[in-house]
Amino acid sequence: MDTTVHGKPLQDWLAAYPLLAPLLRLEPLSWFNPAIAPLAEALHDIPLGATDVDQASARLQRFAPFLAAAFPEVAASGGIIESELREIPAFASVLSERYSLRTAPRLLLKMDSHLPISGSVKARGGIYEVLFHAEQLALQAGLLSLDDDYRKLAEPELQALFARHKIAVGSTGNLGLSIGIASARLGFETTVHMSADARQWKKDKLRAHGVRVVEYAGDYGQAVEQGRREAAADPSCHFVDDENSTTLFLGYSVAGARLKAQFEAQGLQVDAKHPLFVYLPCGVGGGPGGIAFGLKLAFGDDVHCIFAEPTESPCMLMGVYTGLHEQLAVQDFGISNRTVADGLAVGRPSGFVGRSLQRMLDGYYTVSDDELMRLLALMQQSEGIALEPSALAGAPGTWHVLQEHQGYRQRLGLDERSMAQATHLIWATGGGMVPAEEMDRYLSRGAALLQG
Ligand SMILES: *Cc1c(COP(=O)(O)O)cnc(C)c1O
Repeated sequence: MDTTVHGKPLQDWLAAYPLLAPLLRLEPLSWFNPAIAPLAEALHDIPLGATDVDQASARLQRFAPFLAAAFPEVAASGGIIESELREIPAFASVLSERYSLRTAPRLLLKMDSHLPISGSVKARGGIYEVLFHAEQLALQAGLLSLDDDYRKLAEPELQALFARHKIAVGSTGNLGLSIGIASARLGFETTVHMSADARQWKKDKLRAHGVRVVEYAGDYGQAVEQGRREAAADPSCHFVDDENSTTLFLGYSVAGARLKAQFEAQGLQVDAKHPLFVYLPCGVGGGPGGIAFGLKLAFGDDVHCIFAEPTESPCMLMGVYTGLHEQLAVQDFGISNRTVADGLAVGRPSGFVGRSLQRMLDGYYTVSDDELMRLLALMQQSEGIALEPSALAGAPGTWHVLQEHQGYRQRLGLDERSMAQATHLIWATGGGMVPAEEMDRYLSRGAALLQG
């Protein structure tokens, strides 16, 4: 049988890119970036810098009084949307046993799974982009100035302004949830274009907030395409472009300095002798990309960022590895893009993110759906923390780093001694809002898989 992909025989693809073979067989694998460069060099690839991140941070600060008043769940934090950083020693022992590690790693969980307002990592980028857009509109209308008290945004005059504008987004679920909840609260007319794999409860929740939900039989890419087309025809509509938005990306990047402050507050050391490994679940790339960028600016070369994807949706790995980025979709090679990790069910990566971070990220790996479910059950059993499947993708990262045979650690001077003093951080990206019945189904499925 002669299969061709983009007019080229599959055999030629496999010869040019050997890693495609196990990737197409859906084998969990890792690929450590041979092009990794010191941060000072890697920063040349990205059209953004520390000033942009600082501005995003300042904008969130301006909005804090408004958010504190509009969302009771962030009143206690003064309107700052931030998550807990927690040590998870019991899960660390479970992992070291499961993956036969010599010793249990020092393991932390960054609980974006429980971020206020929308219960996922999207409460960073998604909400930030809505706020950014609202601010632009209000400033242009002459109804706001930068040193105003932003609680003003809830006043009738501004609400009336926002009501004349629309926001639209294409989403596998969580982005829609964040954008939908935030923009409905500001008074925008909001439409979320949702892919077939989006969970029903996410659609229900959005509709309960007065958001228009349009459903598609196809995947995320199709939902985005349709949404983009519909929005383009309407000048009053702002389309949140998950694949290319630098605004969204910067909203995520603020996490870097925030995490650094949490490390300092908790007395956790990060330096050349105490490296930090961060494992980030990746869908289209904006969330983990923005966070990785922020982490690099905050911790420099002492932080090592690694992206995790489902074996059924390894779009970023494939894009960066081949250098073809958004030109390839995993479906082109017959990979399904169907995964329990709905937050990661993306077949075509963001070329913007892939190119911008091409020398900044240490590596990429894939994880099977079954393993995600087992890890989900193990996390609940050992730590009592309930996460959605996507959020577990970071869990096997330590194992990949410790057993890699590609010379990557040697290249970066990560010897036994510094590895023994390393901290590993799993970025838990979602789960806080999953309804109890749905979580019970996840847990029993995971438990059943563990039984065997
Ligand atoms: C969106 C999402 C991600 C990944 O973010 P991308 O910007 O799509 O790469 C990871 N986990 C969860 C739970 C998500 O919702």
